[in-house]
Amino acid sequence: MSEPMVDVRGLDVSFGSVQVLHGVDLMVQRGRTVGIVGESGSGKSTLAKVLVGEVRPSAGRVVVDGDDLTARHRATMRRHRRRTQMIPQDPYSSLSPRRTIAQTLAEAIDPARARVSRHEEQIASWLTLVGLEPEMMHRYPHEFSGGQRQRIAIARGLVIKPDVVIADEITSALDVSVQAQILDLLAEIKDKLGITVIFISHNLAVVQRVSDEVMVLYQGKVVESGPVEQIYADPQHWYTRRLLDADP
Ligand code: ADP
Ligand code: MG
Repeated sequence: MSEPMVDVRGLDVSFGSVQVLHGVDLMVQRGRTVGIVGESGSGKSTLAKVLVGEVRPSAGRVVVDGDDLTARHRATMRRHRRRTQMIPQDPYSSLSPRRTIAQTLAEAIDPARARVSRHEEQIASWLTLVGLEPEMMHRYPHEFSGGQRQRIAIARGLVIKPDVVIADEITSALDVSVQAQILDLLAEIKDKLGITVIFISHNLAVVQRVSDEVMVLYQGKVVESGPVEQIYADPQHWYTRRLLDADP
């Protein structure tokens, strides 16, 4: 088997005296989608932040595309920031309310030369890819619906062509019908671009819709992981069974 895109072994994270992640192992093969599920407070976002380099491991090893993040060498972290993108639950954390969509995307594409006119064609094609009209690039985030804003946040995460995308509760704030559209969009883009996706949600049904494999986190520990069909058909841990009962 080829080298995995993401390889986490024995990850511990503590904030002060409080340990939030305990010996987490996570392996993601290139081009696959792994879902991470668990209730609020189980440590999902902390794991996401370790993977983008925002939070330091207290122990263990984190390797992304062959680069060991544990050592945190400057050149490695710089490369890593362009290779791994987080799409947040709240689109406003990656979209400025005072900038048009085009300005935000131009800056993401090339921070040094962020003039919209330079990147107009590329911005238009990204908006089309996420199912929006190219002309919308000149609008501000508040002029869109929640679902449209999440589409723009996806475009913002993808314009720099990352290899790994971490989607942290990206559908949690949306209506159920819009949720399905966003999940289908993510699956379609993932296949088109061949990216590796780590999909985080507290909702197992949502995770199941997009993931090849699932990891269940409970109080900062992995209690179960495996192919999505297996977790569904034959859950081994009581906590997984409880999650399944919660959304039939
Ligand atoms: P989830 O995303 O699954 O809801 P989080 O990773 O956000 O869980 O949080 C896991 C636990 O870690 C929570 O108890 C939270 O309060 C705590 N936590 C998260 N970030 C910090 C931080 N920067 N400082 C202290 N505690 C934190
Ligand atoms: Mg979270």
